[in-house]
Formats: sequence, structure tokens, C-alpha cells
Amino acid sequence: MRAFALHQPNSISEAIALLSGSPDCVPLAGGMTLLPTMKQRLAAPAAIVDLSKIPHLMEVAAEKDSLTIGAMVRHVSVTESGAIREKIPMLAALAEGIGDPAVRNRGTIGGSVANNDPSADYPAAVLGLNATIVTNKREIRADDFFLGLFQTALEAGELITALRFPIPLAAGYAKFKSPASRYALVGVCVARSAAGVCVAVTGAGPGVFRVPAMEAALGASFEPGALASIKIGAGNLASDIHGDAEYRAHLVTVMAKRAVAAAIHKS
Ligand SMILES: Cc1cc2nc3c(=O)[nH]c(=O)nc-3n(C[C@H](O)[C@H](O)[C@H](O)COP(=O)(O)OP(=O)(O)OC[C@H]3O[C@@H](n4cnc5c(N)ncnc54)[C@H](O)[C@@H]3O)c2cc1C
Repeated sequence: MRAFALHQPNSISEAIALLSGSPDCVPLAGGMTLLPTMKQRLAAPAAIVDLSKIPHLMEVAAEKDSLTIGAMVRHVSVTESGAIREKIPMLAALAEGIGDPAVRNRGTIGGSVANNDPSADYPAAVLGLNATIVTNKREIRADDFFLGLFQTALEAGELITALRFPIPLAAGYAKFKSPASRYALVGVCVARSAAGVCVAVTGAGPGVFRVPAMEAALGASFEPGALASIKIGAGNLASDIHGDAEYRAHLVTVMAKRAVAAAIHKS
């Protein structure tokens, strides 16, 4: 592995100064993706900015209508947070289903969202719950953030500082997971708010996406049976050793129905 410099700033401003000082400098959250990537020689940054010494990035703040989760909040903390369990229990349940204990104890919500793995769970929740991605420079709507396979609207040197979630009236998440990694073969988040219903799918295609036909059907009748006749086209979906596109298309409807059932159960 190429030698690299390791910085451990104590504040966001210090981290930003380091990141903007060199184009070959990257942030490190829990290292769950970054370090294996470096070990495989797929990335070789000259410098790493470890975010784990910045207390502000680990905060969870509950407001009347929203929940703000710091970028460095680890999956296990999302699972255990009283505020998150009370305000958006779906998020706590989602985090509990990520990977294994080692991954949940190191991986972070900000690292997951920045990485935008096409099979990751959080992108579905961020899009489905209509969250806002808060960075050191601006606020980005979820609809504008996820641009495709491992691509986001983040610019070079831009740091996610927090995710702000509006409190939904009801929300559920269901995933059919790979038994080896627990990544989503297909995962569906369904959320109902005063603005309507949002359905976001991860794992099925090259990136997280919404399903307007399901949103309209659930807007008219928020129950699993409303999705019975809605079929997803397999054309743009992924095929791999875990399942072909037709299978994934079928799973989207099955998981969406389960997510609606979970949302009704939890609300
Ligand atoms: C064995 C295994 C199983 C897994 N199973 C699942 C699963 O079931 N479901 C799931 O959703 N995920 C799963 N993951 C992914 C895991 O949950 C992590 O969220 C993911 O790997 C990102 O890790 P991290 O938070 O440690 O970020 P890092 O690996 O530290 O960083 C990831 C990328 O994001 C950048 N980055 C980090 N933080 C920020 C920030 N604040 N702002 C801007 N850029 C940033 C880094 O520079 C890097 O490019 C699994 C991972 C492993 C290794």
C-alpha cells in the first residue's frame, strides 16, 4: 500500500482546511469501505483525514418535526439511540440489519451515504424519507444527491456533516439480503408524510430510485394490497450471481408490500 499521511482534526473547519488543501486527500469515517479499497490498491490517497475526533459529527438532535443525525454516527448508535427509536423507529431497525456487529460498530451513516453503494440500505431511507444532506457548503435534497453507481452530488473536498430527516407519519423498510454480506439484493423504504407517499428502492439497479406508480397507488390506499397489480420493469435492473433482473423486479413488489406492512405496524 502507498504511504499516506494521517490527520486527526478536532473540528470541522480544521478538517475542511486539510481536505481543500490537497486534491489527493480523502475523509475517513469508519474505514469499512475506504480501507479495503486501499488494501486492494483501488484507491491510493496521499493523505487521510480521520473524522473520528470531531464531536459535532457524532451528535443526534431531535426537533419537533425533524431528526438530525451527525455524519459520524455509527450504525450501532442509530440502532440504540432513544431519540431515533422514538422519532423514526424504521431507521433504528434498518441500521440493526446492516452487515455484522463489526460493520455496525465501525460503519457510519455519513460514510454510507457518501459512498452510495448501489446495495446499501441508507440511500433508500434518505431518499424515501425525503431527507436533506447537510454539508460544510450547502444543503442538498435527497432527490438531487444520488446520481448513480457510487456517484453523488458531493464535490471534491465537500464533507457531509449531518443528515436531516423530516419525521414521517409512518415509515417502513424491508430488504431481501445477501446471506453473505447482508447487503440488500433488494431493499424498499416506504414513507408516508403530509406531502404524500414516497417509495425508494435500493439494491435492484445501478443506484437508488423512486417508484412513482407505487407512490400514487399508496397515496390512494396505504395498504400492501394497493401494490398487488404493480409490476416493475426489469429493463434497467441489475443481474448478477445473486439474482437476475426479473427476480429483482419481482422482489421490489414483495419488499414494498412488506415495507408498507411494517410502516402500518409501527405507526
Ligand atoms: C462486510 C461488510 C458488510 C456490509 N454490509 C452492509 C449492509 O448490509 N448494508 C449497508 O448498507 N452497508 C453495508 N456495509 C457498508 C457499511 O455499512 C459502511 O457504511 C460503508 O462501508 C461505509 O463505511 P464507513 O462509514 O466506515 O465509511 P468509510 O469507509 O470511512 O468511507 C467511505 C467513503 O465515504 C467517504 N466519506 C466518509 N465520510 C464522509 C463524509 N462525512 N463526507 C464525505 N465523504 C465521506 C470516504 O472518503 C470514502 O470514500 C457493509 C460493509 C462491509 C465491509
